[in-house]
Amino acid sequence: MNSGQETGGANGAKPPRRPRPLSGEDYVSGVLSGNRAVLARAITLVESDSRIQEAQAQEVLRQLLPHTGKAWRVGITGAPGVGKSTFIEALGCFLTGRGRKVAVLAVDPTSARSGGSILGDRTRMERLSQDPLAFIRPSPAGGNLGGVARRTRETMLLCEAAGFDIILVETVGVGQSELTLRSMVDFFLLLLLPGAGDELQAIKKGIVEMADGVLINKADGDNRGRAEQARLEQEAALHYAQPATPGWQPQVGLCSGLTGEGVARMWERVEQFYQELEPKGVIAERRHQQALDWLTDLVHDELRRRFHRDPRVLALLPEVRAALLRGETTAVCAARALLEAHHGGTGL
Ligand code: GDP
Repeated sequence: MNSGQETGGANGAKPPRRPRPLSGEDYVSGVLSGNRAVLARAITLVESDSRIQEAQAQEVLRQLLPHTGKAWRVGITGAPGVGKSTFIEALGCFLTGRGRKVAVLAVDPTSARSGGSILGDRTRMERLSQDPLAFIRPSPAGGNLGGVARRTRETMLLCEAAGFDIILVETVGVGQSELTLRSMVDFFLLLLLPGAGDELQAIKKGIVEMADGVLINKADGDNRGRAEQARLEQEAALHYAQPATPGWQPQVGLCSGLTGEGVARMWERVEQFYQELEPKGVIAERRHQQALDWLTDLVHDELRRRFHRDPRVLALLPEVRAALLRGETTAVCAARALLEAHHGGTGL
């Protein structure tokens, strides 16, 4: 990984192979001018685990904050193989064709484990990746879902400051990642397969209710009839659900990322979403709530981390666990003993 900390150029007249280190001001002015190389390095900076780089990254972000928040933030989820990348490529090209600047990001907590990542080394979104109006960044690798999500959120801010007006964030439908994605976007789109059967729909049960729009994808060729059937079923299910966004009734559409059919219509719905809800303050309210929830999450994560690393807690833990299992103490008393050890130890 390029840390951006290279000295380079020390041996003779050869030009340095690695880019020179950037100052905070270089990052800020580079990102604001839309310089892609600097944007990419700023993202690497916010993805870094180093404490020193974190301080610089936070300072850069703080200075860029006034230039963020103007983009439309759209999340896209669906099971592996539902056609997300094909769809995002079609949607992205449709948008850049209308002169919009599109950034495509991802939240993929599995990338750390598998070594690959969505949007990563596979040759996905070939056409879009060569489009000068598009910027594609793979999911940050490493760490837990919280860490990956934090970096994606910060990358989103950097892209907004760099002038991208539409941010598409993808997540593969595993574990908690859809909930995490929902907590960072305005409009949440769910892709489903026609005739995928009850098992898949059951996995997606809670997820359908979080969606602002549902698309039955791959509605082409022989799939067309089944797709229409699936659309009717999903529409009936959504009809009784509480809308994910107050004042917005999600619809179920048909789409084919392969042929591009349904992409423009889906985008019309997104435009309608902003046109109707922005003047009512619904989107601003959602973003405020997301910011507050994020703050709470960050504090909780850090407290949890400190607690579990505290030597006093670690020293006491085996004894407390054993006492609990022997039935000599209650879980509440055991937890209290550990927390008291932690408080005494850290002065928190
Ligand atoms: P992802 O894993 O959700 O990102 O799915 P991909 O976009 O990689 O697509 C998975 C497979 O489905 C690939 O073989 C695609 O060619 C195929 N596919 C994607 N979109 C469509 C579509 O709209 N129609 C049809 N028939 N196949 C599609």
